[in-house]
Amino acid sequence: MRTRQAYRFALDLTPRQERAVLAHAGAARVAHNWALARVKAVMDQRAAERTYGIEGAGLTPTQGWSLPALRRTWNQAKSDVAPWWAECSKEAFNTGLDALARGLKNWSDSRTGRRAGRRVGFPRFKSRRRSTPSVRFTTGAIRVEPDRKHVVLPRLGRLKLHESARKLARRVEAGTARIVSATVRRDGGRWFVAFCVDVARAERGPAQPQATVGVDVGVTNLAVLSTGEMVPNPRHLEGAARRMRRLARRASRRVGPDRRTGQRPSKRWERARARLGRAHARVAHLRRDGLHKLTTRLAREYATIVVEDLNVAGMLRNRRLARRIADAGFAELRRQLAYKTAWNGGRLVVADRWYPSSKTCSACGAVKTKLALSERTYICTVCGLTLDRDVNAARNLAALAAEVDTAGSGPVAGGGADRKTRQGGPVAVKRQPGIASASKTGTVPPQGGTSNHMLTKAS
Ligand SMILES: [Zn+2]
Repeated sequence: MRTRQAYRFALDLTPRQERAVLAHAGAARVAHNWALARVKAVMDQRAAERTYGIEGAGLTPTQGWSLPALRRTWNQAKSDVAPWWAECSKEAFNTGLDALARGLKNWSDSRTGRRAGRRVGFPRFKSRRRSTPSVRFTTGAIRVEPDRKHVVLPRLGRLKLHESARKLARRVEAGTARIVSATVRRDGGRWFVAFCVDVARAERGPAQPQATVGVDVGVTNLAVLSTGEMVPNPRHLEGAARRMRRLARRASRRVGPDRRTGQRPSKRWERARARLGRAHARVAHLRRDGLHKLTTRLAREYATIVVEDLNVAGMLRNRRLARRIADAGFAELRRQLAYKTAWNGGRLVVADRWYPSSKTCSACGAVKTKLALSERTYICTVCGLTLDRDVNAARNLAALAAEVDTAGSGPVAGGGADRKTRQGGPVAVKRQPGIASASKTGTVPPQGGTSNHMLTKAS
């Protein structure tokens, strides 16, 4: 199967290289901001002209919002706007214009209802201080050097990697991968290069082709499997919280920027902020590592994985649970399971958000009307089953997969899923338990798309 995959490596840039990358990122920002100002000016001009009663051909011509249109306009104006344009790769300006074209499209799609999820605002100007420096190369010499410790990018030349790129290099040498683009960006005080790669992955099946596992994501445990296994929460954030609090306190005691008074931040404040940023980045990396290990293991082992469709956006609004949930990275777990099951020839079944997996007895099917969050053990009043609350929920989820198989597509609801997510929040609506979406083995069927689609909207 062919898929798009990213390979990300840390870079060790020399000060000169870092300046060159920052110059390119700056060029991207200049092109973005200039084109955004231009788009706004044309919109305002046309609106003003309409108030004078000018119509049709008399109006100022529109500025196209597509990338080619923006690029045409930029190329006509760049000698005046940025006389230094030849110093940077054209890919730098393209990075900024592409970001703007996407932003404008997302905004207009969101306004006209073609894009689901939270409302998208109109693109804003990028600031040098607030935006992440990044530049993407899509053409020219992009390659990993044979020593696997260096990469070559257009204009920037040969950059040293902090880690070996052997995983990517092996694939490229074997002809199973083609590099589509390379993005250099700074993340938590460190530079990274991310290759977007077209990969031909070998067809493979899960170790247990008949096995189904229900995964209940919770707060006390990162995941509880229907097999009874409890995967502990990687509480890296909790562990590093003290250190982060200390660093944040230190930064707050120093002189930071103030918009009202025009106060510029002190060097000491900037140093403290940088340290805090690195502490955050480390936590994020540890968390990502833990999630990847869990999802890879599950996808390699089981043919069918059933998870719940949690309303992560709604839960994050609950401030008491918010930090724990953000720490556990629910949405990321589900996103990883979606593509990893497809890679491994398995499938991911997402249970309806209102399926009462916790309240149902996994032995006799009796449904409780009430179950407090504090009740950690499920005790069935009908058959007397006594089981850990989360294991019970995971077993119900696993049983749901069998239901889908017997009922064909079952109460699969692409449209239903849409309706639910649009309500935005845990609104109490009586719904039949069912399956929101399921992706099938091998190729990506429309339902597989629905699954992914839904995930983006829910997060
Ligand atoms: Zn029971």
